[in-house]
Amino acid sequence: MSITNKLEQIKQLIPKQVKLVAVSKTKPQEDILTLYEYGHKVFGENKVQELKEKYENLPKDIEWHHIGHLQTNKVKYIAPFVSLIHAVDSFKLLKVINKEAQKNNRKINVLLQMHIAQEETKFGLSCKQIHEILQNPELGKLENIQITGLMGMATNTDDKEQIRKEFRYLKSCFDEIKQKYFATNDTFRELSMGMSGDFQIAIEEGTTIFMIENSIFSARNYTLKN
Ligand SMILES: *Cc1c(COP(=O)(O)O)cnc(C)c1O
Repeated sequence: MSITNKLEQIKQLIPKQVKLVAVSKTKPQEDILTLYEYGHKVFGENKVQELKEKYENLPKDIEWHHIGHLQTNKVKYIAPFVSLIHAVDSFKLLKVINKEAQKNNRKINVLLQMHIAQEETKFGLSCKQIHEILQNPELGKLENIQITGLMGMATNTDDKEQIRKEFRYLKSCFDEIKQKYFATNDTFRELSMGMSGDFQIAIEEGTTIFMIENSIFSARNYTLKN
C-alpha cells in the first residue's frame, strides 16, 4: 500500500477535529514531500539536528513539531521555525524557549508533559507540579511562549483499562487546569494522549492530537518487497 493510501486509511478512522502529526524521524525527505504534496503538512521529529535540516530543505509552510525530550541547549536551533514543542517538563525549559522565541521575535506554542504512566523512567510532571508552574509568578513575564495544552504517554501495556484510567487522569488534570487558569480564553485546548497500541482509547478519552506512527513511512517498502 502506498504511503498516501495509508494516510487516507488513518484519516478515515480519526475524527476530523483531531490534529494528525506524522512522526517522520529517521525517514527521508522525499517521503515527507510525498505526503506534503498529497496535502498533509504537519510532521513531528525528535532530533533537533534532523528537524533543522528537514526544515531547511523542505517547503516552508510545513508545520514542524518537536516531539520527545528536548535539551535546553538545543532550543536555539529550532526556535526560528518550530510550531509546537510537545514535551516541556520544567520551568527552566519554558524560560529557555521563551528567551529563544523572543530572539526570533515570535511566540512558540508548547505542551506541558504530564507523567501518567506507571513506568518510573518516563519524563513528565505531576498534576501538582503543573499547577506550580502555572502559579509561578515569573510565568506572566514569559510573553513569547503559549502553553496550549498537556501531553501524556500511557504505560506500555496491553491492559486497556489501565491505559484508559491513565488517559482519564490526564483529562481530569487538563479540565482542572483549563478551568482554573484559562477559563476566559481558548488558548489552552490541546490534549495529546500518546502512543499506546490502542488509538481508539485516546480518541474516546478526548485526545485532540494524534501521532501517526513512524511505520507509515515503511509502507512503501512493503509494496516493494511484494
Ligand atoms: C518515535 C516517537 C513516537 C512515535 O513512535 P512510533 O515508533 O512511531 O510508534 C512518539 N513520541 C516520541 C517522543 C517519539 O520519539
